[in-house]
Amino acid sequence: MPVSGLPPYDDSNIFARILRGEIPSKTVYEDEWALAFHDINPQAPVHVLIIPKGKYCSFADFSAQASEAEIVGFTRAVGMVARQLGLETPGYRLLANLGEHGGQDVPHYHVHLFGGRPLGRMVARE
Ligand code: 5GP
Repeated sequence: MPVSGLPPYDDSNIFARILRGEIPSKTVYEDEWALAFHDINPQAPVHVLIIPKGKYCSFADFSAQASEAEIVGFTRAVGMVARQLGLETPGYRLLANLGEHGGQDVPHYHVHLFGGRPLGRMVARE
């Protein structure tokens, strides 16, 4: 049972389908633990999504239930993607949405990586 307040993992979610190769994506990086690809609706000059290969609904689910190897492997992959895209010096932003208030649409844990321009305020005013 996931711990994030989301329903159990849904194998038909869009990122599960990308992982299975059923839907195309523009891959940026892939290793044993993670897949990174360009967001279909970019919100910055660089907007990449990084997802773990395991079936986790959210950060809450992943942080509580993933193995140490998965957590380390995924975290290193996120850093590797940012480095390979040349974002370390100008800087970048990582974001993980969770649940209703976080505005999570796709129920497979993912980290957004934004960069390529100054990114402004951390959280938009409503
Ligand atoms: P969330 O709101 O769940 O944190 O973000 C989901 C992200 O997935 C959105 O930024 C959206 O543009 C992106 N997205 C949704 N469907 C697809 C898809 O089929 N391919 C890609 N590459 N990105 C997608």
